[in-house]
Amino acid sequence: MAETAQEVLKYIEDNNIELIDLKFVDLFGIWQHCTFHKSLIDEDSFVNTGGVAFDGSSIKGWKSIQASDMAMVPDPTTAWMDPFMEIPTLSMVCTIVDPRTQQLYERDPRSIAQKAVDYLIASGVGDKVYCGPEPEFFIFDEVRYKQSGHEAYFFIDSDEGPWNSGKEGGVGYTIGKKRGYFPVSPSDGLQDIRTEMLLTMAKCGVPIEKHHHEVAAGGQCELGIRFSDLVHAADYVMTYKYVVKNVARKYGKTATFMPKPIYDDNGTGMHSHMSIWNNGQPLFAGDKYAGLSQTALWFIGGLIKHAKSLLAFTNPTVNSYKRLVPGFEAPVNLAYSAGNRSASIRIPLSGSNPKAKRLEFRCPDASSNPYLTFSAMLCAGLDGIKNQIDPGEPLDVDIYEMDPAELAKIPKAPANLGEALLNLEKDHEFLTAGGVFPEDFIYNWVAMKMEGEVKPLSKLPHPYEFELYFDC
Ligand code: GLU
Ligand code: MG
Ligand code: MG
Repeated sequence: MAETAQEVLKYIEDNNIELIDLKFVDLFGIWQHCTFHKSLIDEDSFVNTGGVAFDGSSIKGWKSIQASDMAMVPDPTTAWMDPFMEIPTLSMVCTIVDPRTQQLYERDPRSIAQKAVDYLIASGVGDKVYCGPEPEFFIFDEVRYKQSGHEAYFFIDSDEGPWNSGKEGGVGYTIGKKRGYFPVSPSDGLQDIRTEMLLTMAKCGVPIEKHHHEVAAGGQCELGIRFSDLVHAADYVMTYKYVVKNVARKYGKTATFMPKPIYDDNGTGMHSHMSIWNNGQPLFAGDKYAGLSQTALWFIGGLIKHAKSLLAFTNPTVNSYKRLVPGFEAPVNLAYSAGNRSASIRIPLSGSNPKAKRLEFRCPDASSNPYLTFSAMLCAGLDGIKNQIDPGEPLDVDIYEMDPAELAKIPKAPANLGEALLNLEKDHEFLTAGGVFPEDFIYNWVAMKMEGEVKPLSKLPHPYEFELYFDC
């Protein structure tokens, strides 16, 4: 819709728009927003020396109450009319500025993403990084939440409708376990809702490509979007989730990006493709393995070396690790391969076009904050390039045919979030290098996740424990 502040302001005037909704991302990857009358938005709002004031003290993990004045600075390239608001309202995504310093706020994920790109440029390696995220999600008929004391359970009513029986067999137009990819209707009962999601995303500026049912029964779906530069790719993931959830609500359903909502069927990932460019030239194409360059192999070396701590950002929930198990197309082996989907890094076939040469990191899931995920991936890869880290041999053998002793030698993804966080505590220099992630941000992240998620869940008796142990 617009490239500059002047263009946005002209659009607001020309279309007589009264309301401007400013959105920003919190640490957990959730959009927060505040709606302003147009009289409060002018050219000053769009620069770091100005911005639009708000109270940041209640945003979890941000400023304390003593230093709560913050400013949102909208990015004119993210302007769109919000399709879910009845009264015409223009939406923009913001970065957060600390008004005391007039600098990017060091705990704002979108600012961290901008710093990651600046670090790439300052490193001299490249001037552009492209990301192609593939978020998946489930659409359920209903979710009921029940809480008693400290125990809480979600009940998912997925028995109704032709799409989500969750039954092994999948009879009577229902989709059986792992059989959702991707028969036509009436087995696929989510065609129209996905189409509406995709077309609505396009209206919000997201470069759309396709949509389809995914492998899992119970209404697993994917909408395909085109790659973009790192910051905009993360913006588009946010818009994607906003649109998916709001269209689902319109249809009386609910959507979830939780990595493993259904036991024993495929989980929900957010495979993330990445490539680096310089002066309009792709740096990942070359004459090495699978058409990669030496730079790309070093980038992979960095990803593999730091993966055990990197996953604390790319897979940041306790539930994330219930997805990272063998047998469900989710990766467990910290290795790379051109074909093997059990490897955490896949090199997609890209024909002879060097511009399409990229890697796909298959670990991330959509419970992560996309700004932090892409920034942390870039930092790990840059560390690999700077230190010329050899990624070792590709994992091209069929792991089911492999000698168990050989298989055991391949490093594995952390078994749980606690393990990833402990690794992050030890290995985070690659993230703080270049001032991308502040050190106190890392410690704050570890503490928040440990205290708020890992520890409480480790103390909570699971219903299955009653089945296993009640009669012991
Ligand atoms: N749902 C799978 C995952 O958890 C990915 C399936 C696919 O896109 O091929 O990573
Ligand atoms: Mg998929
Ligand atoms: Mg993929």
